[in-house]
Amino acid sequence: MNESKIIDCISIAKGIKYNIKEYIGTLKLANKRIPRLVTILVGDNHESVRYVSWKEKDCNEVGIKSQIIRISDNISQNDLLDIIDELNYDSNVDGILVQLPLPNHINEKAIMSAIDPEKDVDCFNPINIGIMNTNTTNKYPFLHILPCTPHGILMALRRIGYDFLEGMDAVVIGRSDIVGKPIGKILMDMNATVTICHSKTKNIKDKVRNADIIIAAAGVPKMIKSDWIKEGCIIIDVGINVDENGKLCGDVDLEDVIDKVKYITPVPNGVGLLTRAMLLFNTVELYRKNSLDLFINI
Ligand code: NDP
Repeated sequence: MNESKIIDCISIAKGIKYNIKEYIGTLKLANKRIPRLVTILVGDNHESVRYVSWKEKDCNEVGIKSQIIRISDNISQNDLLDIIDELNYDSNVDGILVQLPLPNHINEKAIMSAIDPEKDVDCFNPINIGIMNTNTTNKYPFLHILPCTPHGILMALRRIGYDFLEGMDAVVIGRSDIVGKPIGKILMDMNATVTICHSKTKNIKDKVRNADIIIAAAGVPKMIKSDWIKEGCIIIDVGINVDENGKLCGDVDLEDVIDKVKYITPVPNGVGLLTRAMLLFNTVELYRKNSLDLFINI
């Protein structure tokens, strides 16, 4: 395996966490309030429990205060909305995250809409999605919080110098609200020419083969092989899947494509780590904005 082609997401995530830890260290020294993230976990879905425990571990590592509110999956939508409302009014809470998916009787969109946009650490509230979609500058990483996975993808691209995106042909595979759509919009704003593919796309292989940069977020194990791509392309593999041997893998067959790519993110230890790091980043960003508001109010 040619390691020089692998974008080292472990070290990028470490760097982001290091900076956050340093920042929180300065707050502690100054006896200031510490950023606080509250995660609501409804039910005991195995994957959700695992993701939430990772998030808590990450917060502890950098010094963010983390609280998990565990709720039975028979909670009514109104009771869940009441809990969110309380957190919205709690000035000691900077970020609110409701772990998805939610039980079928609860409308996810109603829940996302109820989170105060200024505490919406996942950036899933329609107001924040609207801000992102109407923002036409190409300076995203410095301006506004973004959904964690697209923001993590930007961090991976930054490592290889993302100015190169201008004029590039990008193909995004997947059109979900949390990955495909936002990253497509962000790449377009960064002056790439973007094609978004999905399960109904015709001749998808031909489209992918034309791409300078590929964002794979379909959730199909090792779907992208070397005959799908052009020599020298860059691949960001977002997929988290299990292969036929029960091992974690992405949407890309890494061993098959490695000789042809310029750069690629691995799975595991790829975009997932960056998503986790950007959740911490977003929590601190919201804290900073909220603290500034408090200051102005005084
Ligand atoms: P969704 O299931 O919400 O969306 C998948 C998208 O891929 C859909 O738009 C679907 O098309 C499209 N798709 C599915 N199969 C194909 C196919 N054969 N060809 C082309 N397009 C296809 O998934 P998510 O966006 O939530 O997640 C995608 C993957 O990324 C998953 O593996 C998930 O685990 C992973 N993930 C990883 C994260 C990370 O931090 N690394 C974070 C979030 C997700 P259609 O719309 O037509 O159904």
